[in-house]
Amino acid sequence: MEPIKILAARALDVLWPRRCFGCHCRLQGDGPYLYFCRRCVGDLDFPFAPTCSRCGQLRGGRSDCPCRNCARNHFSFRSCRSLFEHSGLGRRIVHEIKYRQGRFLLPDLGRLCRIFFPQMGDGIFVPVPIHWRRRWQRGFNQSDWICQALAREYGCPVRRLLWRRCHRRPQVGLGRADRQRNVEGAFALIPNLFLKKIAKDVPIYLVDDVLTTGATLNECAKVLARAGFSNVHARTLARG
Ligand SMILES: [Zn+2]
Ligand SMILES: [Zn+2]
Repeated sequence: MEPIKILAARALDVLWPRRCFGCHCRLQGDGPYLYFCRRCVGDLDFPFAPTCSRCGQLRGGRSDCPCRNCARNHFSFRSCRSLFEHSGLGRRIVHEIKYRQGRFLLPDLGRLCRIFFPQMGDGIFVPVPIHWRRRWQRGFNQSDWICQALAREYGCPVRRLLWRRCHRRPQVGLGRADRQRNVEGAFALIPNLFLKKIAKDVPIYLVDDVLTTGATLNECAKVLARAGFSNVHARTLARG
């Protein structure tokens, strides 16, 4: 960091002390994260060593794909990984971003993501879109925010290749089959000449906030696969 920025950051720390989002302890100037202490980062439930190389499920599968989950769902993405479990602090983080516009947490999450998934610097980031009505109600698309934070961290571009054409009820509270039905045909590729300039085998990282059954991400991946993109991966902050 430039000396002037370090000075400014120190002055701000004195005038307006930063506190850890997890435990509210006071944070000192040169920790690795802006809004998390080391202990809280350590307390996040990171899904280490996923069993299945495609869907990343820990339970009920063999060591390689297809696991039972993949056999049942026919995922169109090549891999699916999440940064942490959707529980405890992980759930609070997602809630803060989605319902309280907690954008301040995103640089730290980008940094964490790069530690756990260092190989994502070779592709493009595509946010899972929301319908314009929901965007209008909420004022933002949290997946877009996460995408931008990741793009800054990895130095890769964000490309909004998809749009949501149907406004349907939220996935929350629906079972697996209903979730699938609810998103069927909901997404489409943007009509853009620019698409032709993207190599079909470039790694595409579809980004969303929470993975539950994978129905939404899979529907997006299907649209990209139909357009010829062969290297699509799903990434979320949390896994429910
Ligand atoms: Zn803490
Ligand atoms: Zn699997």
